[in-house]
Amino acid sequence: MSLFKKHLSNGSFSGSIMADYEVRVDRKKCIGAGFCEKLVPRMFKVDAKNRATLNNGVVVGDEAVALTVGDTDLKDSVMAAKVCPSYAISVANKATGENMLDIEPEMHIPVKMIDAHYDSMKEWSMDPLGFFTIKPFPDEGLIRVRYYNAKHQLAAEIEGKTAEELYNTICREGLVSGLSHAAYLGSELQKAEIAIKKRLLYVQDDPLKI
Ligand code: SF4
Repeated sequence: MSLFKKHLSNGSFSGSIMADYEVRVDRKKCIGAGFCEKLVPRMFKVDAKNRATLNNGVVVGDEAVALTVGDTDLKDSVMAAKVCPSYAISVANKATGENMLDIEPEMHIPVKMIDAHYDSMKEWSMDPLGFFTIKPFPDEGLIRVRYYNAKHQLAAEIEGKTAEELYNTICREGLVSGLSHAAYLGSELQKAEIAIKKRLLYVQDDPLKI
């Protein structure tokens, strides 16, 4: 169908020749987690048996579904395959058989065993970009976040319904500079969301009393 393009490891393509690719879902491996459908609903669907299938796909062999796609859908197919926790989705170049996923789940490498630890007195440091206060409003189903800049001036108010939309917005706006601070925000915002749903008292930095 299409001209072949060279696949690069960063998921982009170069050259002018395009190709056909086979996206395949092995329904025996699928655990119905639904990440593929959430990411690319135009291609993937979790059916009544709680297994993924491909829209307009054809049944192949024993409980597999396959679909031929061109370059336009290749990136999304690869993305869906990479988030599948049970490696149920494969993507291959139809002409060459090349596996388009640069992942190697079957290859075993030495696994590090790491004990988690954190000493807030020694390890905590102020984010040079500033800090946040978080307040849930259960009656409105909203969480309001106030962002104070490095000079402790209120610089932004961010309002949302879920932790996910709030921390992604905060990251997109460039209001955090450290991974640790971003992780802290995610954790606090998730607590605030649970507090709204369960009608619990939320106090920033304190554990929820469940
Ligand atoms: S992400 Fe994988 S396990 Fe989850 S529904 Fe899709 S194919 Fe199945």
